[in-house]
Order: sequence, then C-alpha cells, then structure tokens
Amino acid sequence: MKGKLSVFSQIGHPLEIREVEVPDPQEGEVLVRVLRANICGSDMHMVTGEAFRAFGGLFYPIVLGHEFVARIEKVGKGVKSDYLGKSISEGDIVSVCYFKGCGRCKVCALGKEFACLQSLASVLREAEKPPYFTGAFAEFYVVRQGQKFFKLDKDVPLNVASAINCALSQVIFGLKEIGIEYGDNVVVQGAGGLGILAVAVAKDMGAKKVIVVDAVDERLELAKYFGADFTIKLDGDFRERIAKVKELTEGGADVVVEVAGTPLAVMEGIKYMRRGGKYLIMGAINPKQKFEADPSVWIGENLTLKGVSLYHPYTILLSQNFIKRNVDKLPFDKIFYEVPFEKINEAIDLAKTKKYPRIQIKVCE
Ligand SMILES: [Zn+2]
Ligand SMILES: [Zn+2]
Repeated sequence: MKGKLSVFSQIGHPLEIREVEVPDPQEGEVLVRVLRANICGSDMHMVTGEAFRAFGGLFYPIVLGHEFVARIEKVGKGVKSDYLGKSISEGDIVSVCYFKGCGRCKVCALGKEFACLQSLASVLREAEKPPYFTGAFAEFYVVRQGQKFFKLDKDVPLNVASAINCALSQVIFGLKEIGIEYGDNVVVQGAGGLGILAVAVAKDMGAKKVIVVDAVDERLELAKYFGADFTIKLDGDFRERIAKVKELTEGGADVVVEVAGTPLAVMEGIKYMRRGGKYLIMGAINPKQKFEADPSVWIGENLTLKGVSLYHPYTILLSQNFIKRNVDKLPFDKIFYEVPFEKINEAIDLAKTKKYPRIQIKVCE
C-alpha cells in the first residue's frame, strides 16, 4: 500500500507531496490514518523559519503537523489497548499525544513528561527514512512505542476532535495549572484558535467574567459566540485598555491568559492583574524576543507568572468531555476552515493571513 505525505525541507519553499510505501507498524507501534489535521501556530513558526533561527535549525526534511485526529489502520505487535486500558482494533478513532517523555529523567519520574527536554525531540523523525509518516500533514502517521494515545467516543465530531491533542488540551491544562477558580474574572489576550477555546474553557471552569483583547473585529465577534462577556479592541493607547480591564473587573483580573503570541502582550497583560493575580503564558513562543519586566512589581504585588508548554496526556480525555458537554451549545464549526490535503500549500498561505482561527486539512473521510 502506498500513501501520500507532505515534506518540509526548506524554509520559504512549498511543502512537497510525495507518495511512498506505507510501512507495517513495528512492535509497540500503531499505524493510523490521519482524518483531519489542523495548522497550529507552531507549524507556522517552522514554516516561516522562526523556530529554526531560534534553536539553531533542524538538519533534515520533516513532515509537519501534530494537531490531528486519526483512525487506527493497523496495530503493531504487543499493542492491545489504548493508554486507559481500553481494547483497540482497526477502525477505532484515536487522539494521539504528539510528544513523548524520555522516561529516564527527573521530570518524567515526577509524571511531568510534558516538561521533559526530550518530549518533542523523541517523536521527531526524518521524512526520508522509514517509517516516513512522522507528521500529521500526511495520509498516515506512525505512533511510536510508548507514545500515548486514547480511543475517542464515536459521538465526538471529527472536525472538533482534531483540536483535542494540541489547542484544546493545551488550554485546559494551562488553566488547570494556573489554578483558575470558580468566580474568577479572566482576561484572554489573543482570539486565535487557542484564545477562542480559552474563553469557552474558562467559562466551563466557572469563570465569572471573561474579557478578550484582540486587534481583529471578526475574532472578537467569534469570541462572543464562545462566551466572552466583553471584548476590547487592540488599538490606540494601551493605558486605556488597562483602565478598561480594571474597571470591568473592579480592580484587576484574577487570571490573565496570554495566547497572543508576542512578548509585547506580556508587558501589557501583567498590568491587567489585580494584586495577587496569576498570569499564564502559552502563546509567546518567539525565541529571543524579550519583554521588559520590573521584578519589584512581581514581588510587591504577589503576582504569579507561569509558562505552560504541552500537557499531561490524561488531559486528552478531559478535552473529549469538554466537547461532549458543549457540542450542542457552542458553534465549534465556526473555528475551522476546511481545505483538502492536496491543497496544503494554499492552506498554509491562508493560515498566514490569520483570517480563520484554525485551518483544517481534510485528509480522509
Ligand atoms: Zn500545536
Ligand atoms: Zn524525560
């Protein structure tokens, strides 16, 4: 059997669709067929070269794409169940953790594989060698031995399920980690895919008011559909925005969530908080770009700053629950803009425009 994959080998060049032999899964592996794959912000950081400039560069062609939902095609020797012990067979729909801890370090021993230095590197493989299917912008994906995956219930819509293993679990885990509490006033900076979901999840977790700040009117409108109580347009004087937040929250937000993707947002967002407030950074992955900070303010006002990357694998199940609870209440379909796999390069160009929260690659029915 042959299958198609898209290869990213040079910054500034389009992805190249190739057709290769689909390998049999090795012992402990699972071969899955990708159904829907979304273009996430971090894919764009790779495409634009931002990620390479910061980390010194990758040296081989890879298959991008990590936010996806898939169907089991073939199970390797020794794999009997998912990571909740549910038996699996061909045809089951699964959500796959796109990272894997090394299992041999202190943070892994502490059960925090999301913080392991090897978590992303351990899943990265070269596109030109077997098993080839190592990213989600392809017809298949080979789940590595020890890479956690969970069988999904049949009633979770595929287009929404695609966001489970990155954006949605990221937001749910981040808000859990920062310690959002019932009745909190929350500000979300940035109304892209993560931001829209952060609004809905914060509400679901009992937030009182959710305020969203973004520069694009359409995004702010969409945030309202997902539960935003107030929206603030990112234009003009930042001091006015700070004053508005303080007024709406009667003194400052309990929790501020940065999913704007720029350190500038951090400088402003810090000032949205009340004394003792908590600040969650999840979007500003712009290596070497900095923001100015006055530590004495952090100390004096008892502020908490927390960066969160990846999530505890079990969060995938919390994400599924969230979708099932909200699928009839929230217009999830408005988040995704579907493009067929053959047009992946057009999809990437569309993602650059930031017109839609999530560009979804439809790979297979
Ligand atoms: Zn992602
Ligand atoms: Zn580790």
